[in-house]
Amino acid sequence: MSDDLFRYAKPFRVTDGKGFRLKSVDPGETLGLESKKRAEKLLAEGIARMVDQQEKLYAQDRWAVLLVFQAMDAAGKDGAIKHVMSGVNPQGCQVHSFKAPSAEELDHDYLWRASTRLPERGRIGIFNRSYYEEVLVVRVHPPILASQRLPPALVTKDIWKHRYEDINAFEHYLSRNGVAIRKFFLHLSKEEQKRRFLERLEEPEKNWKFSSADAKERARWDDYAEAYEQMIRYTSSEEAPWYVVPADHKWFSRLAVAAAVVETLESLKLAFPKVDGARKKELEAARTVLEGES
Ligand code: ATP
Ligand code: MG
Repeated sequence: MSDDLFRYAKPFRVTDGKGFRLKSVDPGETLGLESKKRAEKLLAEGIARMVDQQEKLYAQDRWAVLLVFQAMDAAGKDGAIKHVMSGVNPQGCQVHSFKAPSAEELDHDYLWRASTRLPERGRIGIFNRSYYEEVLVVRVHPPILASQRLPPALVTKDIWKHRYEDINAFEHYLSRNGVAIRKFFLHLSKEEQKRRFLERLEEPEKNWKFSSADAKERARWDDYAEAYEQMIRYTSSEEAPWYVVPADHKWFSRLAVAAAVVETLESLKLAFPKVDGARKKELEAARTVLEGES
């Protein structure tokens, strides 16, 4: 089958963020794919391969896979998660959406709540938002940082640099414990966000999705763009790459995410556990018992 699929993920993978510019990725990119139909065909192929890989991941029970999703509002995080994971066994998949931290969570270091939600071995864990909010919304809104009640001596101008270092160290630790991490930034243009917000206002079935808070964050677009750019620059690595996925066409971003997930799973060389001699005997004995039932 075509490894053609991977060509929709590779160009967007950042393993070394040095000098990364958000401008280098066009949110409207489709890599020459013109029709949604062709993309959907490829997405279906990707999902079939993912389903096959997930069974092995689960049976083998060694690796865990952590997929992190970050984006501006209306970029299509929820839809991407829903489409890309359609078909995978729900028992092998855990999704967690990170909201503003609770009082209990604020009483801990910021990675605490994320570490309690990590996927178990054999599972795919999805973070819908994540500890990266700590260098995004928290960076854009200084009062949020103040609410974290850190000892003042630790809140210096280097705090973001320290957070990147700590996040990199955390991801390095997880990688060395068998958690394969892939991070997706759904890269939406400001114009397309406006179009989607207007759609939410105009179409009654989409009204529920509109939030004035989201519209307020839009006013800080440039600050977020800067925070995302820095985040990608300083937290991309070979073991935990960012994918900067063009998101103006939902059909394209879903395909790119699926391609990256398939590539990740296939790179783990997953296989069903081998049946050794003792186990073969055990299976044989069980068969004899079953067949001997009257
Ligand atoms: P949707 O709106 O599609 O349901 P969402 O991810 O936008 O999904 P919301 O409940 O609207 O969910 O928003 C969650 C909010 O929580 C976001 O504004 C996000 O910035 C905020 N948040 C997440 N983590 C943190 C954090 N560590 N500190 C402060 N705010 C955070
Ligand atoms: Mg929201």
